[in-house]
Amino acid sequence: MIGEIAEFASLLLHRRWSAERTRAHRDERIRTLVAHAYENVPYYRRMMDARGLKPQQIRSARDLEALPVTTKQDLRAAGTDCVDPRATDLYRVATSGSSGEPFEQILTQAEYRRRRLREFRSLIGVGLKPLDRLAVLGPVRTRPRRLHRSLGLYRIEVIPFDARPEEQARRIERACPDVLWIYSTVLKQVLSHTGGRLSDLARPRLLISSSQVLDSPFRQQLLDDLPGARIAELYGSAEAGRIAAGCREDDGLHLEDDAVHVELLEGGRRVEEGEEGTTVITCLDQWAMPLIRYEQGDRCRMRPGRCRCGRSSPLMDSPLGRCADMITLPSGRRLSALAFDAVVRQVPGLVQYRFVQRRRDRLEAQFCFQTPPPAGVLEEIAGRVREVLREQVEVSVGLFGVEEIRGPKFKSVVSLLEEQATGPGPE
Ligand SMILES: [Zn+2]
Repeated sequence: MIGEIAEFASLLLHRRWSAERTRAHRDERIRTLVAHAYENVPYYRRMMDARGLKPQQIRSARDLEALPVTTKQDLRAAGTDCVDPRATDLYRVATSGSSGEPFEQILTQAEYRRRRLREFRSLIGVGLKPLDRLAVLGPVRTRPRRLHRSLGLYRIEVIPFDARPEEQARRIERACPDVLWIYSTVLKQVLSHTGGRLSDLARPRLLISSSQVLDSPFRQQLLDDLPGARIAELYGSAEAGRIAAGCREDDGLHLEDDAVHVELLEGGRRVEEGEEGTTVITCLDQWAMPLIRYEQGDRCRMRPGRCRCGRSSPLMDSPLGRCADMITLPSGRRLSALAFDAVVRQVPGLVQYRFVQRRRDRLEAQFCFQTPPPAGVLEEIAGRVREVLREQVEVSVGLFGVEEIRGPKFKSVVSLLEEQATGPGPE
């Protein structure tokens, strides 16, 4: 307990580090991590030997680029060879993964504890206060538990994401949360059963959204319903824990740069600041099963400049989705859900939408409205979608009921291209 408090205090102190101090810490961790992985983890030793690399050559984050990117498939194929055989007292975190194939990240109990403490730090960072009642609605993997509970603070109620919507609604109402942590599709399902307004159940002053991209119409609907409330975003993964989190400024997410080194790549190269890329991460605190240049596979974009809150850690935009959730156009160009954001933001009365692609030259837009839209609206939307695509694609827009397009596995962009089912799509 005392050790946990001391560890948490030191994690809080990291938040005050200058950018230089954090960089020095990161590079020192990278040197130690690479040396450890080479010594103790067969997968990394083989990889480096095959390229004639010695750990001493990796001195900084920049040097890491000499190592190839590791994918989930690589680690799955490596089996126990990607784990330090000396590590004991293990904790396994299952990843969901859209492929449906199971994959586990292995942590020591100490690593898992650190992950929980970082999670708690993120919650405080976005504005959770000691006397708040926090309700969690969704499959939240890591929750801060012992520390605050033993202090009698930060009361938390977990509402199972797979309970019936009526039951979830009842529990939200009973919990009367100051802070509501949501999985956005789960909250949508609850609201579709209770008349659409969260304010009828509870009036949290802060909503925290994680794990799923919070689409603009829903975000706006929540803010309109709860004047003065804030929405904070968290970004993370089962493999790495929290990767980035918002702050009280609600203007971008801070990288958890004392624990995770993030690269954004496109076609194997680092993107320029402000450009979209695929996340590749190196976890600085995970030693039992090291992740070094691991392809996380989310589409993200860094922001230039510093945050008004004063913290030095870099800012990124909200994640734009996963690579698998993108559509591929006839030219091979890929588009993320965000491309349609501007289109759907302008559609009044829109409750939910989804874009489904079965062929490269065809896109089906599925829309659900509060009340049937006036004539001509759907055709107008289709026209605006075509403008975004800028290629020869047949766009159809259909009206759907909310139950037809929602579900716990909801995605706003679904690609069902045959080519993706049988092999990797074009880059
Ligand atoms: Zn900030």
